[in-house]
Amino acid sequence: MADGAPVSMKSRVSEAEWRTRVELAALYRLVALHGWDDMIFTHISARVPGPEHHFLINPYGFYFDEITASSLVKVDLDGDIVGETPYFINPAGFTIHSAVHAAREDAKFVIHLHTVNGVGVAAQQGGLLPISQNACLLQHQVAYHGYEGLALNHDERERLVADLGDKPLMLLRNHGTLAVGETAAQAWIGIFFLERACAQQVAALSVGREQVLIAPDEAQAETKEQGRGSVSSPPWPGPARCVSWIESRLATTSEPGRRRRRRDRRFAGARQRLGHAARTGPGDRQI
Ligand SMILES: [Zn+2]
Repeated sequence: MADGAPVSMKSRVSEAEWRTRVELAALYRLVALHGWDDMIFTHISARVPGPEHHFLINPYGFYFDEITASSLVKVDLDGDIVGETPYFINPAGFTIHSAVHAAREDAKFVIHLHTVNGVGVAAQQGGLLPISQNACLLQHQVAYHGYEGLALNHDERERLVADLGDKPLMLLRNHGTLAVGETAAQAWIGIFFLERACAQQVAALSVGREQVLIAPDEAQAETKEQGRGSVSSPPWPGPARCVSWIESRLATTSEPGRRRRRRDRRFAGARQRLGHAARTGPGDRQI
């Protein structure tokens, strides 16, 4: 880590918690790879298996591609840190995530983002429009929650959870996107398609709303039927391989400079394959 040698949590937590940590760290890396991070802001969280209702969230101050399985911080539903960690958390992120984890037994993973396209659509009066296949598949699974300012007020939790209901996806008006999953894969595929649909809508509306075709009602109904279950049985091996492919090419600071620079160029290539510029010097990783 940036502040010293990394300490592995692998031998200090249960096997189930370690698996959850690795999957959650992979989600942070995937979001960073797609350029959907917001510097150190927004959060992805996971419930730790077991009856305690503890969950894991990012250490505040780290870029998403710096976050590791071991650096994730374990907290209870009151936001108190459980166990030893040199890190701390962002209270605003805790408000949203603890509300969803507490209210929904199926909310094992929660992803919340502030992407340009996600906020762009969340700010549009009509919300997600049925103008793309992705949107037609998702539109009935998307909830909406009105903007109330930075999520520091615990009173907002009840309203947010009521608005979310039993849906897996949410557009937070003027704020961002949110996906809930029983597995990392479910949350990932949900946020992936929601972000895609938002990007497609922003692109389509660039010619003006009156020029954009709304999908015919029958096609919308058909797509809804065809899409049933698509978010509940998503592909995870591909995204997981993508992360591990990159991880396998990440080295420690003890690596000789020339080899490390060569590795960093490969890492840059991986990021560019996903369509955005690479940051340099990924540093130590321990996933
Ligand atoms: Zn937010």
